[in-house]
Amino acid sequence: MHGVSTVQRPAATVKVIREADVVVVGGGPGGLGAAVAAARKGARTLLVERYGCLGGMATVGGVNPFMPNHVQGKRLDTGVFSDWCDEIRELGGLMPDGSTFNPEIAKLAAERLCLSAGVELLYHAWFDEPLLSGRCIDACLFTSKSGPVAVRGRVYVDCTGDADVAARAGCRFEFGRESDHLAQPMTTNFDVGRVDTARMPDRKAINELYRQAKEAGRLTCPREDCLWFRTTDPSRIHFNTTRVVMHDATDVERLTAAEIEARRQIVEYLAWLRECVAGFEECELLTMGQHIGVRESRRVKGIRYLMRSEVEGLCKFPDGILRCRYPIDIHNPAGAGTELVSFPPDEWYEVPYGCLVPEDVDNLLVGGRPISVDHAVHSSLRVMPPACTLGQAAGVAAAMAAEQGIAPRRLDGVAVKEALLGQGVWLVWEAGAGGEMRERAGTGRLTA
Ligand SMILES: Cc1cc2nc3c(=O)[nH]c(=O)nc-3n(C[C@H](O)[C@H](O)[C@H](O)COP(=O)(O)OP(=O)(O)OC[C@H]3O[C@@H](n4cnc5c(N)ncnc54)[C@H](O)[C@@H]3O)c2cc1C
Repeated sequence: MHGVSTVQRPAATVKVIREADVVVVGGGPGGLGAAVAAARKGARTLLVERYGCLGGMATVGGVNPFMPNHVQGKRLDTGVFSDWCDEIRELGGLMPDGSTFNPEIAKLAAERLCLSAGVELLYHAWFDEPLLSGRCIDACLFTSKSGPVAVRGRVYVDCTGDADVAARAGCRFEFGRESDHLAQPMTTNFDVGRVDTARMPDRKAINELYRQAKEAGRLTCPREDCLWFRTTDPSRIHFNTTRVVMHDATDVERLTAAEIEARRQIVEYLAWLRECVAGFEECELLTMGQHIGVRESRRVKGIRYLMRSEVEGLCKFPDGILRCRYPIDIHNPAGAGTELVSFPPDEWYEVPYGCLVPEDVDNLLVGGRPISVDHAVHSSLRVMPPACTLGQAAGVAAAMAAEQGIAPRRLDGVAVKEALLGQGVWLVWEAGAGGEMRERAGTGRLTA
């Protein structure tokens, strides 16, 4: 039985071990974007992460590849995300397709990028709770290897993916889809090696084998098909195909159950691959996400809220801080099926600055996936390249707010966009004579 008895936490005096202008909590793609951007904008910046490395879902979650957020073959995420890719490439970990990467090298690259921007790092510190002073966060408490520690910033950026900081600070949030509050399913990604890829059936044939195995009851994953990708190693295949539905990633009991269920599915998959799929006879399990992949949980209510109807209308804003054309991509929160709605080839939608600014706390911004949008919009901008750019926008805004001594809600969103342009995020494109998109003169990679 759970939850029937309680204990009292004793009051304690906790040492403030670090202070900074901008404190970023969470070092996934969003946190990387936020921390590097804030530091480049001149803020003393601290990035605090619960694990011993950066990358979040890209590394600890074993998620691969970077999904394309492109228009006419050109990348829309040209800021910190591009720099991260360049660093991964330089260290020999990026495939020529520009999207498949070696996750170990992605860790190294993210850390190098932070250190070279002057970001201070604190690992092995798990955000616990904020100490509030009115509508502001005064300090954040972390559980660490040294016991409880505190850090203090002028402005905080919540990049925990699950909006842990915002939720504990009392911000209102939405959870999952509007009809029943179920979030997209969780997935433990895994890689297998020693695959004779020359003999592998094509995607269609693998899916037919998968369908047969499901019908026969030997595979019990609720997914409708088998999703796999090639990797940086020709004999290694990456699977993004387990599916755990109707579990809340912010509830430790449900999260534990989800980890166990996903690994149960992996055991079934391995036996099926070895026995039924050509080329996999000798395969071995190489890695599983060390944390189950969480697609969706909380979305913080901001001073602006972006809805599906707006992005389907390809909305643009003077303070648009992200351009995105990755499809609406909703894995069924309750079972089989995936809804995929693409945008026109030469088009994108924009996210206004206010989606990063919580309504309820004054010195906090949200970066990465849990921003103020509905379930459908979240399903599009949650992928790693735009998540990194959303973090970058929050980081730039945090640095500006700290420097000016004002709340992020008081910043002019157009000025935040201009600052992002200054960091090279924004390739402002316009239609050329032949309808092709081209970069507007005078924009591109400038310095902060
Ligand atoms: C199964 C799955 C498959 C996906 N497939 C793809 C794909 O193929 N391509 C793609 O581009 N995107 C994909 N995505 C989406 C993408 O990986 C995430 O949406 C993206 O990583 C979000 O970035 P983020 O920084 O907001 O969050 P995260 O990547 O989740 O990073 C959050 C960070 O915060 C840290 N953190 C969390 N809580 C705390 C705390 N309390 N204290 C301290 N630190 C904390 C975490 O350890 C982590 O480092 C997939 C996601 C999942 C789950």
